[in-house]
Amino acid sequence: MPPTPTPTPGPGAPRVRERGDACPGALRLHSADDGHLARLRLPAGRLTARQVEVLADAAESLGDGRISVTSRGNAELRGLADGCGAELAPLLVEAGLLPSPTHERVRNIVASPASGLDGLGSADVQLWARELDERLCATPWAAGLSGRFLFVLDDGRGDVTGLGGDVTLVAVDPRTAHLHLGGRAVRVAAADAPRAALTAARAFLTAARAAGTGAWRVRELPEGHGADVRDVRGVQDVRGVQDVQEALVAEEVPEPVLPQGPPPAPGPLGPAALHVLAPLGRLTAAQLRALLPADEVRLTPWRGAVVVGAGPDRTPALDAAGLITRPDSPWAGVSACTGRPGCAKSLADVRADAVPGRPGLPVHYSGCERRCGHPHGDWVDVLAAPGGGYLVDGAPAPRTDLAPAVTTARTAPRTTR
Ligand code: SF4
Repeated sequence: MPPTPTPTPGPGAPRVRERGDACPGALRLHSADDGHLARLRLPAGRLTARQVEVLADAAESLGDGRISVTSRGNAELRGLADGCGAELAPLLVEAGLLPSPTHERVRNIVASPASGLDGLGSADVQLWARELDERLCATPWAAGLSGRFLFVLDDGRGDVTGLGGDVTLVAVDPRTAHLHLGGRAVRVAAADAPRAALTAARAFLTAARAAGTGAWRVRELPEGHGADVRDVRGVQDVRGVQDVQEALVAEEVPEPVLPQGPPPAPGPLGPAALHVLAPLGRLTAAQLRALLPADEVRLTPWRGAVVVGAGPDRTPALDAAGLITRPDSPWAGVSACTGRPGCAKSLADVRADAVPGRPGLPVHYSGCERRCGHPHGDWVDVLAAPGGGYLVDGAPAPRTDLAPAVTTARTAPRTTR
């Protein structure tokens, strides 16, 4: 589903939104050219084995038989028929995938997917994600966040800090976390980290309501109305945003820096987990089921899945299922938006036109300038052009010459975007 671009306030006046965000959810479906679309929020991308089966069955019985993995590690079902929401919702509720109908679109939590599995990182932020999700769903005012507001929980390795979180928690050591909000940070006890993240979201809502511009995300707050990270310490009682949380001990961090690290490569993660990627970010129902048996599956922001409980001996079977299991796979790092025929805005069937290539920078194919779902950081932009053909980082490339043009762009030295 195409994201709405960040608003750009005109000179002298912040943009004021008159409406709430239109992000799809599991209950609020989006109408696309290939049918309805349901986006299912999966905090930290987590699915139990039973939920994997339910999702695969739902894709086959109600949708087009595929599951898209989003750049936040959520799951989308496409090709849903009119009125199928009445069938989908009970399936999801029964599987524990819709714990709070009122909060289903605000459970946007990304966490380091390998946390707790490979011995890296300073804390198991997957546990933080579960606590934060429980607190979020149990807090009535949190339903007022937009469907785009993002919590990012990084275990210190820096793999998810670049994903543009509104509230970012970073494990500094086993006892301490830094909470980042609007360019500033406070130090909190690791045990308080999930509660602090929720309190920071409350500080954002308070600031957004005071600004009156309808901001959905922290970066959209107008100048002079920033969310104050120091509010994480205390209890506020602001009209419309009330709760009774205890005050937190939180000291401001001078000159905070977010750690930056690479995403995990496809392959083994420690002795009992595997990271695989979905070709072009989409899994067939059969490929999703091929991840089982598993203790749990964690969909990742890199459009893959961490299979917890799977040793290296599972690699051949996952390979045979068509999943990307090696970093040198020609499809590793290649992603595409929906394109034709699913999106009316698209100038091309970008998924059919995408070509494999030599490993290098991530590459993303887009059917129009919105570039939905593009990677973060540095990446190669392949944009469908009017009249056929593509622009590779702005340079024209006919469809027949895409492979060499993309390979050159992925492997040539370049300056960071
Ligand atoms: S063509 Fe692609 S980038 Fe453009 S709106 Fe559709 S899905 Fe998004």
